[in-house]
Amino acid sequence: MAGSVLDDGDVLTDTDIIESYRFDRSSGTAAGQPFAVVFPRTTEQVASLMAAAYEHRVAVVPRGAGSGLTGGSNAIDGSLVLCLERMRQVRNVDVANGYVETEPGIFNTELREHVAGHGLWYAPDPASKDFCSIGGNVNTNAGGLCCVKYGVTRDAVLGLEVVLPDGRITRVGRRTVKGVAGYDLAGLMVGSEGTLGIVTMARLRLRPLPPPAATVVALFADVASAGRAVEKIMSTSTPSLLELLDRTTMQAVEEWRPSGLPVEAGALLLAQSDVPDSGADHEAESILEACLAAGAMEGYRSEDPDQAEMLLGARRMAIPALEAKGDWLLDDVAVPRSNLAEAVAAIEDIAARHDVLIGTFGHAGDGNLHPTIVTPRGDAEAADRGMAAFNDILEVALRLGGTVTGEHGIGLLKRDSLAEELDEPSRQLQRQLKDVFDPRGILNPGKSLPRW
Ligand SMILES: Cc1cc2nc3c(=O)[nH]c(=O)nc-3n(C[C@H](O)[C@H](O)[C@H](O)COP(=O)(O)OP(=O)(O)OC[C@H]3O[C@@H](n4cnc5c(N)ncnc54)[C@H](O)[C@@H]3O)c2cc1C
Repeated sequence: MAGSVLDDGDVLTDTDIIESYRFDRSSGTAAGQPFAVVFPRTTEQVASLMAAAYEHRVAVVPRGAGSGLTGGSNAIDGSLVLCLERMRQVRNVDVANGYVETEPGIFNTELREHVAGHGLWYAPDPASKDFCSIGGNVNTNAGGLCCVKYGVTRDAVLGLEVVLPDGRITRVGRRTVKGVAGYDLAGLMVGSEGTLGIVTMARLRLRPLPPPAATVVALFADVASAGRAVEKIMSTSTPSLLELLDRTTMQAVEEWRPSGLPVEAGALLLAQSDVPDSGADHEAESILEACLAAGAMEGYRSEDPDQAEMLLGARRMAIPALEAKGDWLLDDVAVPRSNLAEAVAAIEDIAARHDVLIGTFGHAGDGNLHPTIVTPRGDAEAADRGMAAFNDILEVALRLGGTVTGEHGIGLLKRDSLAEELDEPSRQLQRQLKDVFDPRGILNPGKSLPRW
């Protein structure tokens, strides 16, 4: 089937070679054995593949760069993995209207570099930006470090070209800044985790390149006081970045790639302001004052761009550094910012109660935490305690009015907790929407939706 539409080199069936396309970067998720991995290069090829899969009722797993953390692009037994990594052309940069039209396989960083050549900026910047694709970002509604001021991927998506499960090609969304024509199908596709259609082009909003940022570093005795500082900062300022690392995370990063992080502190807040002209300096001062008022042990303006870059690099290394310490389970919860301090205190309590190591870091300004549970490698009993801690953290997020996933999505990992977050009418609507788009249930089946 695939050979008729793709070059031979764009189809893999050798089980050894396709092994690396079976899993994403999550831990604790299962993956099946696909019969092939295909690498279409055009929208028409994707459409032919989907039409054939629809006719023969073959399950299709869309895959970007496989950096997901929930099993969303994990293969399913007997499925066709449809990998978009060879569709990576930027089709058009429209400077006058401030958008780019790009194919989905391009890495986030590559796109940012491409549009910077036109003096423009694509804001959403997941910590994985060097190795995740725009198609994956759209399908997980990825967040990032700048999102606290500039919004998540959803806020950047103007329109999409989508191949539907039966092979039809549709263009949803718009080119204009405003528009309310019909239901927001582009919005629905964002974060749908490859269950409704294959994104073959994304039209993304661009902004002027931001001015250089002023950086503030604040050290706290504990994470709860850092949480209180976040609440204060967000009620008085609009930082362009507000990230948190706790001591466990800093220690892990320091063990993995030593760079002089202040591991004696209980928590570190890293903030930036990019208000033009002298505005950034004023805002940075106000952020610093808020930190000190919330009880920071120490706080200062980092005048050295290399130090600021080192700290941002350390934040981006949090996941691989904790991953290197043992078996790990990464959580991704978001709570209303006013409950951040309570959430982190509850997470510390959960770590003590289940006797597990939890490194907490995240996009604090968005109330989005990534408590990462680490247990000794291969210790089954500790892994059970880790899973109990994982589930307790999800309960805390819901109890505090939050959500079981801030940005990584549901995938295979959180289907049960999604069922808890949604009420019954919403659960029904989710199922019905899936049926409307994918009546034969061939697209990424078993992912992203509550079990039923
Ligand atoms: C070290 C590290 C740091 C990370 N930091 C962040 C962060 O700061 N913020 C954040 O949000 N995430 C982060 N992530 C998670 C991950 O990088 C994001 O979820 C990313 O958006 C996934 O992109 P991908 O191309 O790797 O997609 P994949 O993992 O391949 O797929 C993700 C989902 O999208 C679907 N999909 C992919 N492409 C398409 C397409 N073209 N059409 C339809 N469906 C598609 C897949 O089926 C799957 O459900 C991090 C991951 C790692 C390993």
